[in-house]
Amino acid sequence: MNPSLIPDLLDGFRRSKTLFTAIDLGVFEVTPITAAAFSALAHADPRATELLLDACVALGLLTKANGLYANTPEAETYCKRTSPHTLAGYALYSHNVLWRLWDHLPDAVREGSHRWPQAFNMQGPIFSHFFKTEAAMRTFLSGLHGLGMLSSPQAIAAHDLSRVEHFVDLGGGTGHLALAFLDRHPNARATVFDLPQVIPLTREFTQGRVATIAGDFFNDPLPPADCYAVARILHDWSPPKIERLLTKIRTALPPGGCLLICEMLLNADRTGPASAMMQSLNMLTCTEGQERTAAEYDTLCRAAGFRSTSAITTGSPVDAILALK
Ligand code: SAM
Repeated sequence: MNPSLIPDLLDGFRRSKTLFTAIDLGVFEVTPITAAAFSALAHADPRATELLLDACVALGLLTKANGLYANTPEAETYCKRTSPHTLAGYALYSHNVLWRLWDHLPDAVREGSHRWPQAFNMQGPIFSHFFKTEAAMRTFLSGLHGLGMLSSPQAIAAHDLSRVEHFVDLGGGTGHLALAFLDRHPNARATVFDLPQVIPLTREFTQGRVATIAGDFFNDPLPPADCYAVARILHDWSPPKIERLLTKIRTALPPGGCLLICEMLLNADRTGPASAMMQSLNMLTCTEGQERTAAEYDTLCRAAGFRSTSAITTGSPVDAILALK
């Protein structure tokens, strides 16, 4: 028996919220700094500011020497908003959006559906909630960009894509997967296909390196490609919508074409890994979907007419399944 299991789990939300609050208040942007100087800058209570900064030291986010707080290497890389690898966007999205959705987790479990109406009084298509304002869309997609920087190179390297000529990332967001594909296969072409309101952000992040096409993957024709990708897409949707999308992709592919699916894979018995199970509950609170096992992706792909699939766990925030036409 592990006597610290429950106390550690009880503590989990406090640790997350300390991280979110420090990022929200902008601590990591202005270090090295004293508690007094930061409380003045943030218009915050001096005693409470010192408690927050000391807690960040305890969590390994800041160091403290002679009253001066400085970023640890982890905070400098992942918490500072200007770092190319920043996860600040994902932390702020967790702070402002997921936190409120998860507050309704008991009812999500009772009723089996997302909590946008209860937490934000929002009805309608799920991405109209994620993208309610330009700022909300930017926070969400730049948050995913940070995660993508950690996972896309591994997802692209997981399978042999050396014969691919045109890689089209459906719902490609900021384009991190398409960029990782081009880094590894510089002689191929890459295109990001996403909703019209996302495309300006894709262009900003990809700086002309990938082509962009605005459209709706459920209702518009797909641009021709010999490899499509869906990264963090299938886990958003119900099985009938997934089958519709996969069938459309399989139909659009030439013979011998392939589909790269990037998602967190569940173990065969669907009880882990814990990070994938947390992501699955997260999908419950905010989408129509969930995470799946490699066998479940294989069944979905074969039902849509794909010949075979092979699944690789990457050790990064997403795994990679390749489906062959
Ligand atoms: N693939 C990106 C990644 O891994 O960071 C983004 C994943 S995000 C969870 C889902 C993406 O799908 C968003 O960029 C969203 O705009 C896009 N999307 C949602 N519905 C779509 C639709 N009907 N047609 C095209 N793109 C869509």
